[in-house]
Amino acid sequence: MPKKVIAVLRGDYIGPEIMEAGLTVLEAASANSNFQYETIDYPFGGEAIDKCGDPLPQQTVAGCEEADAVLLSAIGGPKWDNASKRPEKGLLEIRNKLGLFSNIRPTKIDPNLSRFSPVKQEVLNNTDFVIVRELTSGIYFGTPREQHPQDALDTSTYTVQEIKRILKIGFDMSMRRKKHVTVVDKANVLATSKLWRQVTEEIKQDYPEVTVDYSYVDAAAMKIITQPTSFDVLITANLFGDILSDEASVLTGSLGTIPSMSAGTTGPNLYEPIHGSAPDIAGKGIADPISMIQSIEMMLRESFNEDYLADKIAKAVQKTIEDEITTPDIGGTATTQEVTANIVKNLKG
Ligand code: ATP
Ligand code: MG
Repeated sequence: MPKKVIAVLRGDYIGPEIMEAGLTVLEAASANSNFQYETIDYPFGGEAIDKCGDPLPQQTVAGCEEADAVLLSAIGGPKWDNASKRPEKGLLEIRNKLGLFSNIRPTKIDPNLSRFSPVKQEVLNNTDFVIVRELTSGIYFGTPREQHPQDALDTSTYTVQEIKRILKIGFDMSMRRKKHVTVVDKANVLATSKLWRQVTEEIKQDYPEVTVDYSYVDAAAMKIITQPTSFDVLITANLFGDILSDEASVLTGSLGTIPSMSAGTTGPNLYEPIHGSAPDIAGKGIADPISMIQSIEMMLRESFNEDYLADKIAKAVQKTIEDEITTPDIGGTATTQEVTANIVKNLKG
């Protein structure tokens, strides 16, 4: 088998620190396995503005397009507050270039971390769901968008094709999980939501094993807090997904542990932690690497079908958390490097 190519975008502030940690774990996990890969670094975000005057240089676009997966750390920060180009602009553009129309965020509560959650342990139980958010259409991209002195207008549009492709991502994902899809919408009010339901009824014929239900977004927002175990795969439009995925991240009680994936149909998927570049702790060696390590775990599963390696990493992370070798954001006193070294040690044990 040819080597898999991973494009690596190390990012800004704590970005390079946690990327280093993630790649160390990937290397240790895949040593002596059949999974062969190489990583290639490309400038991106603030680093790329400094080096090339552009948050997304052409060489980075070309390198990512050719790669089998893209790993991204966090970008941006105060250094570029007054720059003529914003680092975050690169993120919108790369999603666009790679055709990444979906964003997937898991919410899985490690029992050893449930004390950081604002929600009680008995409600959290073994919460494990993902939110599949449509990323490139809906009200954030609708035209016309107009603001006048006495009124303003936003437009939300979804085509059948846009709905089908995001549903397919979610249904496929559910087949590898608990086979339960919840489509979240506002079908009592919105025409786009009514179309989502119509298309769901059609798509679900292709997935006879999957249980499908619908939830209005207001009810889903409550249930994420009151009955988080009732979900497996939530599929929803851009605006609703934006809000619900931030809400869901609160359940875990720590930003530093949550990965994400953006997927399309043709290009490579992109994997990144959900948090920002955390300028306040950069250079201190205390950034939590778990979000990055779990992004790599997700990459192994979703892009490379290496479930065995992914499970191995997941177990090693779990053991490290159990042993309380953790960074300060989740109650420990360990450094990024100590956490990483412990995870590597647990891979072997
Ligand atoms: P952005 O706008 O880029 O999302 P933000 O302002 O929301 O950034 P983050 O960079 O996500 O902020 O950081 C929010 C808080 O969480 C900060 O106090 C930061 O130190 C902390 N934090 C984020 N990521 C980590 C991590 N991996 N380890 C430890 N703490 C983190
Ligand atoms: Mg933020």
